[in-house]
Amino acid sequence: MEKIPLNNISAQHAEIETELKDAILGVLQRNDYIMGADVKSFEQEYASYCQVKHAVGLANGTDALILGLKALEIGPGDQVVVPVNTFIASSEAVSAVGAKPLFVDVEPQTLTIDCERLAGLLESNASIKAVMPVHLYGHPSRMNEIKDICSRYDVKIIEDAAQAHGAEISGVRVGNFGDFATFSFYPGKNLGALGDAGALITNNPDLARRVAMLSNHGRTEKYLHEIEGFNSRLDTIQAAALRVKLRYIEKWTDRRIEVASEYNGYFSDLDLITPSRVENYRHVYHLYVIRVKNRDKILETLKSKGIMCGVHYPIPLHLQPAYAHLGYKKGDFPVAEAAADEILSLPIDGHLTKDQVLRVAEEVKRALF
Ligand SMILES: *Cc1c(COP(=O)(O)O)cnc(C)c1O
Repeated sequence: MEKIPLNNISAQHAEIETELKDAILGVLQRNDYIMGADVKSFEQEYASYCQVKHAVGLANGTDALILGLKALEIGPGDQVVVPVNTFIASSEAVSAVGAKPLFVDVEPQTLTIDCERLAGLLESNASIKAVMPVHLYGHPSRMNEIKDICSRYDVKIIEDAAQAHGAEISGVRVGNFGDFATFSFYPGKNLGALGDAGALITNNPDLARRVAMLSNHGRTEKYLHEIEGFNSRLDTIQAAALRVKLRYIEKWTDRRIEVASEYNGYFSDLDLITPSRVENYRHVYHLYVIRVKNRDKILETLKSKGIMCGVHYPIPLHLQPAYAHLGYKKGDFPVAEAAADEILSLPIDGHLTKDQVLRVAEEVKRALF
């Protein structure tokens, strides 16, 4: 029985193995491991891919959020709105700069931040300094509505695009709507490095300069430090690998979108909910998330057939032990809580074949009956 992983990194690397090896060898030959030539080139190429002016390579996606928040001078006494169904890195970054995450429920269709509830929060709370929409699963948050709401207050917008490389709203790539956006290149993300890596993108040159400086000990010259910073640089070897993969990301993303539409076709008459997509939004399907009753049973059945699924995420952030001190309770965010019991992420990546999609679909069908 062939095993189907949630995300097939081996197949991806098999396609580009020679190019990856050459890229890594190039770094060994140049010995420029820190801030090397590939870092600069990747930053330029990634900015261009995202249709923005600046990209700053960083050590990982969590640091990208932290350094971006620091550069905006968000800190103690400030609150930042974070949707409650996301990976903990989103809210961890807020706490890491000394600010407080303020959770908000998600909308039932896309499970991204609920705009009406966001408007309600902004209306009643003057300590909110920023809003962090998360483009969850690769589907953009409703950025035009969010910008509209935020423009009525003095509130920054931070796009957590860790799962959304190349996602678009009406042809405009994510990262062009907020003050900045952050990406993770964790190996399993749509654009993945060979270890940890991340980036921040922005159209604001001053912000880009500040983040680059913060990531490199606050330096302006080798031993001249304008401020205290961190060590959170993008490794040259990771940049070299990312440059190779960036040449393939559109092809792989197009296949993800095709896979989603093949699944949608197979599931149209089954008792489950397929992922929604807002019209004119480009969903890049980092994850293909369905909703089913008896989710845990179906997950186990699929696993026994060699089909590896996931749950993103099983416990909404407000119910995590790490946030007990914030005083939230069960029932506070009913949409996210109901979703947490039903969501199931099926295998998807840029190398899943038509036959594999069919096999997953047939096993899902069988598991439902
Ligand atoms: C992966 C991820 C991050 C963190 O990225 P790392 O590179 O692992 O630090 C942040 N936010 C979301 C939504 C993520 O999925």
